[in-house]
Amino acid sequence: MVKKKIVILGAGYGGLRALKRLQDLKPNAEIVLVNKNSYHCEKTALHEVATGAASPGDICYPVSSVVDPQYTTFIKATVSKIEHHSKTIVFENREPLRYDYLLIALGFEFESFGIKGLSDYAYQITNIPSVEHIYKQLNEKLRAVKPGEKLSIVVGGAGFTSIEYIGELMEQLPFLTKAAHLKRDQVSVSCVQSNVLPMFSEDLSGYIIGKLEKKGVTFIKGRVANITANSVFYKESKASTDSSELTADMFVWAGGVRGSSVITNSDFKSDRGRVLVNNNLTVPDCEDVMMIGDCSIVIDDVTGLPYPTTAQIAMQQADCAAANIVAIFNQKPAKDFYYKPKGTVCSIGRHDAVGVVMGKQLRGVTASVLKKVIDTRSIVLIGGVDTVIKKQKLFRKKSMHVVN
Ligand SMILES: Cc1cc2nc3c(=O)[nH]c(=O)nc-3n(C[C@H](O)[C@H](O)[C@H](O)COP(=O)(O)OP(=O)(O)OC[C@H]3O[C@@H](n4cnc5c(N)ncnc54)[C@H](O)[C@@H]3O)c2cc1C
Repeated sequence: MVKKKIVILGAGYGGLRALKRLQDLKPNAEIVLVNKNSYHCEKTALHEVATGAASPGDICYPVSSVVDPQYTTFIKATVSKIEHHSKTIVFENREPLRYDYLLIALGFEFESFGIKGLSDYAYQITNIPSVEHIYKQLNEKLRAVKPGEKLSIVVGGAGFTSIEYIGELMEQLPFLTKAAHLKRDQVSVSCVQSNVLPMFSEDLSGYIIGKLEKKGVTFIKGRVANITANSVFYKESKASTDSSELTADMFVWAGGVRGSSVITNSDFKSDRGRVLVNNNLTVPDCEDVMMIGDCSIVIDDVTGLPYPTTAQIAMQQADCAAANIVAIFNQKPAKDFYYKPKGTVCSIGRHDAVGVVMGKQLRGVTASVLKKVIDTRSIVLIGGVDTVIKKQKLFRKKSMHVVN
């Protein structure tokens, strides 16, 4: 008898964790994993590559370390759309693929919110090529600064990605400026934002602002309105008609992301590349399709708002989705997903962080150690202890990655 085919799209936090669980549950099915790269990138550490604190190899590991060839076939290909009515996946670079059950975990993409100039001039922290580009450009721009001149770096947004990037950048700048034969004060860093990490208390966000201001960051309250090659224009509020101009030799946008464009190109009802999934993570009117991670929307019953998209929720969804696929496969009822927040920690450089874990507010070295433990745990949950040992995650020395 021909086995049914379970296809997983995306080998990120959600997709790989689901694959691991499915392989453990051993359904009597053929499993196919599809991803555009043959590696998993720890996106929570992208800012480290963007600043040269880590090299791409430090934050990636091969998909093959999770794939068990006894159960799973890996296909390296780029998905362009899903035709649900014919249960077909269409690719940019290979023949279409049919599925019986589909798990979509294609993650996030750059979001410009229609801001003029953003797509043309802003640097983005979304994947390995984008952060390698930021680091290369940063070095080139530093080397081009002449005596007496200055370089202005502006970051848009003050969520996790921005703060972690700025925190790491402020630690790396002394080394980077020295390597470019510049004085440290020839480079300025500003952050244009409407709210610094609003999920944290005023006390914790005040701590972050204080720490980064002490290192020389200027926080500017405002909403980015448009970008040109050398300037950022921002308004005080959405309603303001006047805008102010700030020189930006380099503008890094970390003000928001959207779900995968594959979702928009497919016949699912979506909003900014994300689908409001059923409680059991199936896609409305598509009982054989599940969606998890950054391209899914799950509502928090308490606030009535979508949960923030994080690696943590993607991995918890993955466990539920894998169990539900097996249940559906065995004609048993699928269970509802309940998110159990384990806490949130945001780093501000290598040895400082803030966070809330089990209801407790944390800051400083304790929070920073916890952040490393959380990152390591996610590698254990996906790649196993072997991968942690191979990557020497906990003991990795602070390094400066050299660009030629
Ligand atoms: C700088 C930064 C810091 C962050 N910090 C934290 C943090 O501290 N804690 C936290 O929980 N979250 C954090 N996040 C968010 C977290 O990274 C995401 O929520 C998480 O990656 C989502 O997981 P996912 O499985 O949905 O997608 P991803 O992990 O993004 O995986 C998606 C996969 O799909 C593949 N793919 C995409 N499109 C295609 C296509 N068309 N065809 C084939 N393959 C495709 C990608 O290559 C990728 O492998 C951070 C994000 C950033 C950028």
